[in-house]
Amino acid sequence: VDTVSKKVRSLNMAAIKSGNTTPEKMVRQLIYKNGYRYKLHKKDLPGKPDIVLTKYKIAIFVNGCFWHHHKGCKKAHFPKSNIKYWKDKINRNVLRDKENYKDLKKLCWNVLIVWQCQLINTATIERKLIKKLESYKKSS
Ligand SMILES: [Zn+2]
Repeated sequence: VDTVSKKVRSLNMAAIKSGNTTPEKMVRQLIYKNGYRYKLHKKDLPGKPDIVLTKYKIAIFVNGCFWHHHKGCKKAHFPKSNIKYWKDKINRNVLRDKENYKDLKKLCWNVLIVWQCQLINTATIERKLIKKLESYKKSS
């Protein structure tokens, strides 16, 4: 067993173990609870945002810290072996993300990123998220 797959497996396990709810579902629940209605995985939008609030043109991505490289986050550390492989792979993800966000903004969408690790503190992320949604709502 190599350390790479062990690390990835443990990341996956962590995601599964955090109850029967995925990070994306958690964000959906927070949004719904606050009276917002949304659509899921709009395939016709760049990057297929996880959650879309069509009315206010808000696209939300719920990003895993490792796969999307959450800068400065403990969960974003590269595995100790095959570091070049992982760096290349993750860098490609990051570049693709950037392109998608840029394209969305060009289409006048508001882009919101929620990082997986932020969901540990539900109250804080809820407050932040709703504040953002309110501000986009006002400017729409
Ligand atoms: Zn993070």
